[in-house]
Amino acid sequence: MRVVVTGGAGFLGSHLCEALLARGDRVVCVDDLSSGTKANLQGLADHPRFELQLHDVACGIEVGGGVDVVVHLASPASPPDYLRRPLDALAAGSRGTEAALALAERSGARMVLASTSEIYGEPHVHPQPESYWGHVNPIGLRSVYDEAKRFAEALTMAHHRALGTRVGIVRIFNTYGPRMRPDDGRVVSNFVLAALGGRPLHLYGEGRQTRSFCYVDDLVRGLVCMIDSEETGPVNLGNPAELTVADLASTVIRLTGSSSRLERRPLPEDDPTRRRPDISLAERLLGWRPTVGPEEGLERTIEWFRSAF
Ligand code: NAD
Ligand code: UDP
Repeated sequence: MRVVVTGGAGFLGSHLCEALLARGDRVVCVDDLSSGTKANLQGLADHPRFELQLHDVACGIEVGGGVDVVVHLASPASPPDYLRRPLDALAAGSRGTEAALALAERSGARMVLASTSEIYGEPHVHPQPESYWGHVNPIGLRSVYDEAKRFAEALTMAHHRALGTRVGIVRIFNTYGPRMRPDDGRVVSNFVLAALGGRPLHLYGEGRQTRSFCYVDDLVRGLVCMIDSEETGPVNLGNPAELTVADLASTVIRLTGSSSRLERRPLPEDDPTRRRPDISLAERLLGWRPTVGPEEGLERTIEWFRSAF
């Protein structure tokens, strides 16, 4: 297949490009390098089946030749990134998604949208199944991301219903692993780097909020299952192993053998208090479930950060 991956130079995108090339696909990565890097594509750049287009997807996507699948990952994704670039987050979710759908329609391709657990907002249902509509502040600081992704889902479903576009929506829960940007501000990279450097780990709020962390290899395997299926979704992809942020901090300190302390910092506005995917749909429709537990995934991630920085 020939697969266009928007945001392919980012954390998830670079692992996806690698996985697709490894199984024999041709890959066109479209990325403006706003949060991705060429270093993430090291080893792929010279691959005969890999092309890189430096381009902002909110301005349209032009890819010549046949395309079988468009995977739309391009978007600021970490909270500090989308809070710093609110208009870009909205543009990637709206105009970027429209451009990805238009390319899929011109090519007769399937379009797979990377949505997010953030569309559930501060959830009143726990764990979150796909049938839960969410509880989102439409004008809060995080709305630029949450509502962009909710609009992206609505736009994708409207194209599917009105034009018959073949689409698939995945709702990705917190994912971690090698190639997280050291300064992207997400909790796993922040904690691992602080622990390795002997600096304090900053707990936002009391650290009692929960997240469910999925190792990147599992997540990418789930994305590939969705690429290969004809399911429309939305389908949750995540690891139901739920941890409080304080538990995550102590696990990272133990696994790194660090003497770092914990320090409290203010809880960001609208930070969800709990999040855990119900993955029964992914198990049933895609035959997918994560296999890497938090300790093993964190150990691999710590090793990577140790050798990379
Ligand atoms: P990332 O920041 O590492 O990657 C995003 C990539 O998109 C970067 O390479 C960036 O340069 C590119 N990009 C951003 N705006 C662009 C634009 N307008 N035009 C072209 N390229 C653009 O983030 P990630 O963690 O790899 O996330 C990838 C996708 O998965 C995002 O859509 C994100 O919302 C979604 N997601 C990720 C997670 C997670 O835990 N990593 C969770 C839920 C959803
Ligand atoms: N968090 C934290 N310390 C940090 C970074 C994040 O306590 O250095 C908390 C944050 O408030 C949130 C959780 O960890 O409750 C996950 O944050 P992240 O930014 O990784 O993802 P998201 O909020 O999008 O789930």
